[in-house]
Amino acid sequence: MTPVAKDAVNKKSIQMLEQIASEAKFTASMTGRKAFDDRVIDSMGEVPREKFLPLNNKLFAYANRPLPIGYGQTISQPYIVALMTDLLDLTTESIVLEIGTGSGYQAAVLSRLAKKVYSIESIAELFESATKRLKKLGYDNIETRCSNGYEGWGEKAPFDGIIVTAAATHIPPALIDQLKPGGRMVIPVGMPHMHQELMLFVKELDGSTHTDALLDVAFVPLVMEENA
Ligand code: SAH
Repeated sequence: MTPVAKDAVNKKSIQMLEQIASEAKFTASMTGRKAFDDRVIDSMGEVPREKFLPLNNKLFAYANRPLPIGYGQTISQPYIVALMTDLLDLTTESIVLEIGTGSGYQAAVLSRLAKKVYSIESIAELFESATKRLKKLGYDNIETRCSNGYEGWGEKAPFDGIIVTAAATHIPPALIDQLKPGGRMVIPVGMPHMHQELMLFVKELDGSTHTDALLDVAFVPLVMEENA
C-alpha cells in the first residue's frame, strides 16, 4: 500500500472506532457496557478489515455495517464484533472457541486478546479461504476446522469463552458442556430471519448458570444438528 492509501485506511479505521464508541454509549442501558475495554478497541484498530472482504466490498470495509462475504454469509457489523468480544472478558491466558469462522475477521480480533482461538466453519470454501488468509496475515494462534459447530470442539475443551457468530434457535447443549466454570458464552438466539436476541450465558465457578438477553440482533442462521 502507498503511504497515501495507508493514511486513508487509518483515517477510516479511526472513524470506525469512533462509531463503535458512540454506539456502545447509545446501547449501554441494554448491554451494561458504556465503553469497551481498551484492548478490544486496540485490536479492532489493528486488524485490517479490508483484508477479510471480497474485492467488490473493500470500499466499505470500515463502514459500521455488516457486509456479504459470499455463500449467503456476512461479516458482522464492527460494533457487534467489538461488543461480542468485549462481553467475553478475555485475558491473555484465555482459550476461546468461535463457531462460524466466515472470513476469519472475528477470529483475528479475538486472537489479539486471547492465548489461543479455535474456530469452526461448516462451509468448506469459507473454511479454506479463511484458513489461508489467517495464515498469510500471520495470525498464528488460531486453529480452524471444517465441521458442524453445533457439536463444539470436544478435544480442545474446556473453553474460557465461546462466541457463536450465527443465530441458533437454542443454546447448543454441547457448547454449554464445553464451557469452563467461570466461562462466558455470547450467542445470538432466535428463529432464522425473525426476532433474535444476543444472549450472554455465564457458567459460574460453582457450575450454576445464568443467561441474559441483551440486544435485538440480526444474524445468518446457525446450521443446526440435523442438516449441517
Ligand atoms: N465470524 C465471521 C462471520 C460469521 S457469518 C466473520 O468474522 O467473518 C456466520 C458463519 O457461520 C458462516 O460462515 C456460516 O457458514 C457459519 N455457520 C453456520 N452454521 C454453522 C455450523 N453449524 N457450524 C459451523 N459454522 C457454521
